[in-house]
Amino acid sequence: MSWDFETDPEFQRELDWISDFVREEIVLVDEILGSPADMRSPLRQRLIPPLQARVKERGLWALHLGPEHGGRGYGQVKLALINEILGATRCGPFIFGCQAPDSGNAELLARFGTDAQKKEYLQPLIDGDICSTFSMTEPAGGADPTSITACAELRGDRWVLSGEKWFASNARFAEFIIAVVVTDPDAAPRNRSSMFLIPREHPGLEIVRNVASVGQPQGDGSHGYLRFVDLELGPERMLGERGQAFAMAQARLGGGRIHHAMRTVGAARRAFDMLCERALSRHTQGSPLAHKQLVQQAIAESWLSLEQFRLLVLRTAWLIDTRGNYESVRGDIAAVKAAMPRVLHDLAGRALQLHGSIGVSDEMPFSRLIIESYQMGLVDGPTEVHQMTLARQVLKNYEASDSLFPAYHLPTLKALALARYGDALAESPPEEPWA
Ligand SMILES: Cc1cc2nc3c(=O)[nH]c(=O)nc-3n(C[C@H](O)[C@H](O)[C@H](O)COP(=O)(O)OP(=O)(O)OC[C@H]3O[C@@H](n4cnc5c(N)ncnc54)[C@H](O)[C@@H]3O)c2cc1C
Repeated sequence: MSWDFETDPEFQRELDWISDFVREEIVLVDEILGSPADMRSPLRQRLIPPLQARVKERGLWALHLGPEHGGRGYGQVKLALINEILGATRCGPFIFGCQAPDSGNAELLARFGTDAQKKEYLQPLIDGDICSTFSMTEPAGGADPTSITACAELRGDRWVLSGEKWFASNARFAEFIIAVVVTDPDAAPRNRSSMFLIPREHPGLEIVRNVASVGQPQGDGSHGYLRFVDLELGPERMLGERGQAFAMAQARLGGGRIHHAMRTVGAARRAFDMLCERALSRHTQGSPLAHKQLVQQAIAESWLSLEQFRLLVLRTAWLIDTRGNYESVRGDIAAVKAAMPRVLHDLAGRALQLHGSIGVSDEMPFSRLIIESYQMGLVDGPTEVHQMTLARQVLKNYEASDSLFPAYHLPTLKALALARYGDALAESPPEEPWA
C-alpha cells in the first residue's frame, strides 16, 4: 500500500529553486515583455535566452520530454508540482521550455514524425529556438472536431490545401503550423482528417487577421485567422498516417489539458494569495476585512475549491504515471478540464471583489485572470464537451435496471431483509431505522 502526499527532499530542493527563480526573475520579465513566443523581438531575445540557459544548467529544461529528447523523464506528478509554480506567470513556461502549444507539438513530432521532420522541427523546438502552432479550429466551429471543412486534395503526388482556420495561437510567431485538414471526405468522421506541417511564410498561407484577446491591441493579437489558398505541400509534409489526425489530436490534447490544469492551479493560487493578503491588510469599520464573517466565508470557499482542484489534478497526474497513457484516464482528464475554468473564475472574482476599485482596474491582474478562466473553458474544447465525456466515462461503470422498482428501492430492500432475518424477527419485531 503506498498512498503518500510527501515530496522527497531532493525534489523539494528543485521546487524551492524554481519558486525563488520565478519570484526573483520571471515575475519581473512578465511585466515588460509582449509575447515570449515572439522570436523577432529584440527585448525577448535579450531577456529570455539567458534565463533559459540558467534553467538548462540546473537540468530543469523541457521536463515534459523523456531523456531521449533532452528532458528528465519526470512523470506527470512532478510536472504538476513544477507547473503549478510556473502557472502563476506568463513567461515561466517559455523559460522552462514547456509552454503550450509547443510542448504538445513536440510530443506529436516525437511520436509520429519522420526522421527528417524531427531533424527539421523537433530539435529546434526542443532547444527553444523556434515556436509552433497547432491549428484545428475553424471559423464555423471548433467544438466538434468531426466538422472540419478545410481540406487537402491529392494532385499528382502533391497535396493542395484550401480552407480557413481560426484561433491558431501564436501563428504569427510560428516557424511551422501543424494543420488538421480533411484528406478523406468519404471515410468515417474520425478517419477523415490528416495532419500537415506547413512551413512559415509558405506560398498560399495567409494570415487574414491576428485576432486579439483582452490586453492585446485589436487585430494585432496572437490568435491567427488563417486561410489556405491552393497551398501546395509534398507528401513528406504529412505528419503521421493519413486519416489519423483525430486519434493523434486526442493523444496530444490529453497531455495539453492536464498541463493547462496544472498551470491553472498556480494562477488560482496566485489570486488566493492576494485575496488573503488583502483581507489581512485592508481595514474597514474598525477591523481588518479578515475579521468579517462573510470575508472568512470567501476565504474558506476559495481554499476548499483550490485544494479540491489541486488534489484532483495531482490524482489525475498520478493515474497517468501509473497507467502510462492518457487514453485510459480520459474521464479524469475531462473532469480536470471541466473543473478548471470555474475554480480560476471564482477565485479571481473573489480576489477582485475584495480589492474593491483597484481590483477592477488594470493595476491588478484579476480581470485578466477572469478572462483567462473563460479561455480555459474553451481552449482544447469547451467545458460542456468535457462534462459529456466525463459523464459517459462515469456511466460505463453502471448498468440500467430493468425492474419497475430498482434494487435500492427501500421497500424492496426491506422485503429482502425480512426474508433473510426471519428467525430473528420471530423473536423481536423489526425496528424503524433511525436517521
Ligand atoms: C485562448 C484560446 C486559444 C486557442 N488556441 C487554439 C489553437 O491554438 N488551435 C486551435 O485549433 N484552436 C484554438 N482555440 C480554439 C478552441 O479550441 C475553440 O474555441 C473550442 O474548441 C470551441 O470552439 P468554438 O470557439 O468554435 O466554439 P463553438 O464550437 O461554436 O461552441 C460555442 C459554445 O457552444 C457550446 N457547445 C459546443 N458544443 C457543445 C455541446 N456538444 N454540448 C453543449 N454545449 C456545447 C459551448 O458553450 C461552446 O463554448 C483556442 C481558443 C481559445 C479561447
